[in-house]
Amino acid sequence: MTEQFVVYGAQWCPDCRRSKAFLADLRVPFHYVDLETEPDAVDTVLQLNDGKQIIPTIVFPDGSHVAEPTNEELAERLGLPRSAAEDTYGLVIAGGGPTALTTAIYAARENIRTLVVERSALGGQAGTTERLDNYPGFPDGIGGAELADRFVAQAHRYDVETLAAVSVRAIEPSEDGIRVRLSTGQEVIAGAVLIATGSTYRRTGAPGEDDLIGAGIHFCATCDGPFYKGAEEVVVLGGGNSGFEEGLFLAQFAEHVTIVEAMDEPRASRML
Ligand SMILES: Cc1cc2nc3c(=O)[nH]c(=O)nc-3n(C[C@H](O)[C@H](O)[C@H](O)COP(=O)(O)OP(=O)(O)OC[C@H]3O[C@@H](n4cnc5c(N)ncnc54)[C@H](O)[C@@H]3O)c2cc1C
Repeated sequence: MTEQFVVYGAQWCPDCRRSKAFLADLRVPFHYVDLETEPDAVDTVLQLNDGKQIIPTIVFPDGSHVAEPTNEELAERLGLPRSAAEDTYGLVIAGGGPTALTTAIYAARENIRTLVVERSALGGQAGTTERLDNYPGFPDGIGGAELADRFVAQAHRYDVETLAAVSVRAIEPSEDGIRVRLSTGQEVIAGAVLIATGSTYRRTGAPGEDDLIGAGIHFCATCDGPFYKGAEEVVVLGGGNSGFEEGLFLAQFAEHVTIVEAMDEPRASRML
């Protein structure tokens, strides 16, 4: 019997990275065992999978396990609701970040039956942020996960229905309204659809990157730069205009700022 989830994997395994990212997004604590650095654990994986070395192998707190699960299978095992309760909604929102949850609260207050569909964890990027220090109403700052949980609790108080780990796959007009197809295969009809799918930052793909996002790796200097007040050195990846602008901003907090650019020359304007 394990006390928490254990993920057996390896750095080079993309499905291991996907499963780890999925659990981390859902804020499910887990212990990661890398078979490359802990070769003794290979025996455990072989034993669990009838002599086959399949990764990721994920062991649940009750001792049961799955090998190479899809995100959908993991969501099911985690007991997340998999289907919308109704066939028809006044508003369906694709995405479950701050934009979606704020809109959902306003819509539900106007008695509009609202469904929020989030492909990963509710809270969006805000939920993955270690700490927000610039959100009004929280003079001491607030953890991103806690803020996300508060958004969700407030939405649920107004009977907003939410689905996590379900994607919106297709949106098309129909005679009854707008037909929204979900990754689970279910279809619902909406009076209106809001696309609040946010933006994604380009990643380097470097090993370890996923684990440090929000806790050492950031994408927005004005959001998170102040956390590095007094730091000896910060590194900015990318020597375009954005990289230099962010670097200049960070220079007020850190003693040194190093900008790393893959091309021979920085691509930023000479002014910067
Ligand atoms: C490390 C970090 C630190 C930050 N710090 C701050 C800060 O200090 N202060 C601040 O104000 N802002 C900060 N931000 C920015 C802030 O988090 C974003 O501005 C905010 O989350 C945007 O909200 P959103 O709902 O529009 O989009 P998102 O938060 O990006 O949410 C969009 C959601 O849509 C989901 N989605 C995408 N496609 C689909 C689909 N087809 N079906 C279902 N769901 C889908 C995504 O999984 C995602 O969860 C930070 C961001 C990061 C990454």
